Amino acid sequence: MNKLIYVPFDQLNQQYGALKTADPKSDHIVLIESQRMVSGRSWHKQRLQFLVSSARHFAKELETSGFSVTYLESATTVTGLSEVKAKFPKYELICATPNSFKLRQDLKDLGVHFVENDFFLTSSDLFKIWADQQKSYTMENFYRAQRKRLNILMSGDKPVGGTWNYDAENRLPPPKQHDWGKSLTFIADEIDLEVTKQLPENTWGNLTEKVWATTRSEALVQMQHFFENHFKDFGPYEDAMPATSWTGHHSLLSPYLNNGLLHPSEVVAAAIAKFDSGEISISSCEGFIRQIIGWREYINGMYWYLGEDYRNSNGLEANRKLLPLFHDPTQTEMNCVKSVVQDVQNYGWTHHIPRLMVLSNLALLTGTSPQEFLNWMREVFIDAADWVMVPNVIGMATHADHGVLMTKPYAAGGAYISRMSEFCKPCKYDPKKRTGDDACPFTTLYWDFLDRNLDHFKNNHRMFQQINGLKRLSDLPQVRVRAHEVLNRLDAGSI
Ligand SMILES: Cc1cc2nc3c(=O)[nH]c(=O)nc-3n(C[C@H](O)[C@H](O)[C@H](O)COP(=O)(O)OP(=O)(O)OC[C@H]3O[C@@H](n4cnc5c(N)ncnc54)[C@H](O)[C@@H]3O)c2cc1C
Ligand code: SF4
Repeated sequence: MNKLIYVPFDQLNQQYGALKTADPKSDHIVLIESQRMVSGRSWHKQRLQFLVSSARHFAKELETSGFSVTYLESATTVTGLSEVKAKFPKYELICATPNSFKLRQDLKDLGVHFVENDFFLTSSDLFKIWADQQKSYTMENFYRAQRKRLNILMSGDKPVGGTWNYDAENRLPPPKQHDWGKSLTFIADEIDLEVTKQLPENTWGNLTEKVWATTRSEALVQMQHFFENHFKDFGPYEDAMPATSWTGHHSLLSPYLNNGLLHPSEVVAAAIAKFDSGEISISSCEGFIRQIIGWREYINGMYWYLGEDYRNSNGLEANRKLLPLFHDPTQTEMNCVKSVVQDVQNYGWTHHIPRLMVLSNLALLTGTSPQEFLNWMREVFIDAADWVMVPNVIGMATHADHGVLMTKPYAAGGAYISRMSEFCKPCKYDPKKRTGDDACPFTTLYWDFLDRNLDHFKNNHRMFQQINGLKRLSDLPQVRVRAHEVLNRLDAGSI
């Protein structure tokens, strides 16, 4: 039977999903540019440009490969698909199982036949078998099982190098006068320029140079660039937050892994090949492999395992509205926050630690609604997708799931940011102080957060040390007063 193959914008790969077995002689491909998706929210310009331009380039590549393709701009995905379906009544409409609860349901309702989604290394069935056997869903245990199952960095049944985890060697702060190298830029072609011209007015952020690839060949150039120039130093400086580089030694591969231009198996194979050449330390290689076969697969597995309602969790009853500084970094003088939000504004990206320990930490400590924060993150990050944002924000970042994902919250005062970044020296606030006009808002709010949420954490043995520290604070009443002032001024955009 002839197939009508629907390709969502996050399955752009001819070797995987529904296109794997497609036949240009008999099958027809359809991509839908949903206007609800394009203008329904205030997306970051670069995010929207990247998603739409990649899809339009991909449609053109399919035509070059001999396929007949319908690329349709339609009010919604469902209306577009219904229209195409009516034109091809004898074709079977198929799609690789979609990556979000919503699209899965919408397509199911439309009678779309799902084929295997092999854009990840772990199926949700396989993940469920692992998760059902766990007392707590520790990523480290999942990761070790992945290393064994996929036979990656293994020497028989032992980890290569004798240790599973090199995190202890991989937590260095940014060294002085370090050369972080240059990031790549790409040349915008006709398709890119046309998409940019058509961006709706309600978009946010800046778009000047083309820093994000929109074709598979450009994504492969980015991958090569990482392995040649940054992989060696990836491990040691994985957590470092330099002030002079927006990329550090990170790969910048998440957008392409998430929209299908790259597949995790080829990124892992390239990492192992480079490691085998002897130029890369085991700590860098293991640190990177852990992100791909561990964290990425774990987060995707947990998204499906925890179900659709998980996104609504609010275990700490955090109901503050999103702070104005998230949309306008001029509304704060906190140097770390201002710099990180400016990076997001300029690139739609910042690496894991600024996401977690600056942006999310601020949302957590201020008691910002996890759902409001999630919506913002979804709109402004280049690599955002439902499956990856929901567990990262609800579980890892805001502890809104009451510890299902992480046994303790990633809450920290200014001392952590001071140690791991170059932001504090030029800042008007002092990371060591918790009271007074120049007290670091993170430091004040850290203690106030523990104080406000004491009931939630007092029986958590992993919080024992922090709670003990709180009990020893002699100036807690003054901290509370300063915290009240900090929260009001954050709401007003004047701190
Ligand atoms: C609050 C919060 C929100 C996040 N939202 C997203 C998101 O929307 N999309 C996204 O891809 N990542 C997200 N991450 C994870 C991580 O920050 C990004 O994957 C990473 O910064 C992307 O940059 P990179 O490709 O240079 O990553 P590298 O540091 O080079 O790491 C390599 C790859 O590992 C994978 N990875 C590492 N950690 C995670 C993780 N926690 N979850 C999923 N994949 C991971 C990514 O695919 C990444 O490309 C989030 C993390 C936090 C704390
Ligand atoms: S002092 Fe506080 S607010 Fe200023 S940069 Fe450091 S952590 Fe951020």
